[in-house]
Amino acid sequence: IRYFDNAATTSISAAALDAYTKAVEHYRGNPSSLHQEGREAKAFLQQTREDIAGLLGVDAAALTFTSGATEANAIILSSLIWKERKGQVILSGIEHPSVSEYSRLLKQLGWKVTVLPAPRGFVQKEDLQRALSSETRMVSIMLVNNVTGSIQDVGGLVEVVRTFEAGHNNRKIHFHTDATQALGKIRFDLKSMGVDSAAFSAHKLHGPRGVGMLYNTNAGIESLSRGGAQEQGLRPGTENLGGIAAMHQAIKEAFSNLEENFEQVSSLNRYLRDRLTFLPVLSPPENCSPYILTLSHPTLPSEVFTRLLFDQGFCVSSGSACSNNAKQKSQGVLSAMAFSPQLAKNSIRISLSKDTTEHDAEALALTITHLNLEHA
Ligand code: PLP
Repeated sequence: IRYFDNAATTSISAAALDAYTKAVEHYRGNPSSLHQEGREAKAFLQQTREDIAGLLGVDAAALTFTSGATEANAIILSSLIWKERKGQVILSGIEHPSVSEYSRLLKQLGWKVTVLPAPRGFVQKEDLQRALSSETRMVSIMLVNNVTGSIQDVGGLVEVVRTFEAGHNNRKIHFHTDATQALGKIRFDLKSMGVDSAAFSAHKLHGPRGVGMLYNTNAGIESLSRGGAQEQGLRPGTENLGGIAAMHQAIKEAFSNLEENFEQVSSLNRYLRDRLTFLPVLSPPENCSPYILTLSHPTLPSEVFTRLLFDQGFCVSSGSACSNNAKQKSQGVLSAMAFSPQLAKNSIRISLSKDTTEHDAEALALTITHLNLEHA
């Protein structure tokens, strides 16, 4: 099997798996327990948080460990629900369902939800500027889109919001970014982007599934769950110490090889684009993560195309394979990007990793070329 579905999940690295095993074997206590074993586990947890914060260039106190990006997004978005003063929330039309699904819920609860278009994958600053109002409480715009790979100018979009705030008695607007597909793949700086919060998931960068992080600097965020005082009360529940240790290892590896991996993946992406010029490309030519390449077939619906590829031993996805009804949702994302329904319906997402080889890319290009001749 040749695996091209790394935006859905990546395989865990040997070192991350080792870190997991070592942490769970060595730290047997619950970090909340007061005995020696508990205190050791707590110290390890805190040290890991500080190390990750150091790599991200943020304060350790701003990092909350979660079960993944879904939960990190949920903590931020659902925090609005606890507030009595309803207002406006602005989302981009290309958010992952773990953000976009809040649109319906918030509307039901009386919030005004404005969904920004993202022509060809990019939210326009003017659209954000026009949407902001004295009622705006939160803006959520992702960093790297999981369907096409488009990279938003989050720093520039935050600036639009801050300028608006300055002209409106400095009324605070929370800016959240889902940076799940960015971590360990492209360089970014949370502090200089100026976001209030960001979501991450370990398994997108060769860490384990079921563990992630929320970066948050807003003291007013209300927790999603009720329970113990773990994670400063923002995420109650016994910490996944092994998963957190493995995520730390995965981030370390990804950061130390980021440029090298980026170059290698970029060259494979270029190769595939050059070889597959007969198919429309939905991923933008610039400001796009090289880890994601979304194409469309002129005639074959994506489920047929992906099935044909699977029969030849290739794993690709028909859009975002993060949930059961992902296809419908990724089509919504593609229509927010103003692609025609036909292009959206026939889209296939090829997603690469540091482990993708030239051989894999050659075999995929050859197979798609043959399939195209057969089904043109
Ligand atoms: N956000 C984006 C952009 C994603 O690609 C994913 C992947 O599924 C998620 C959030 C959710 O991550 P997880 O399923 O690990 O919670």
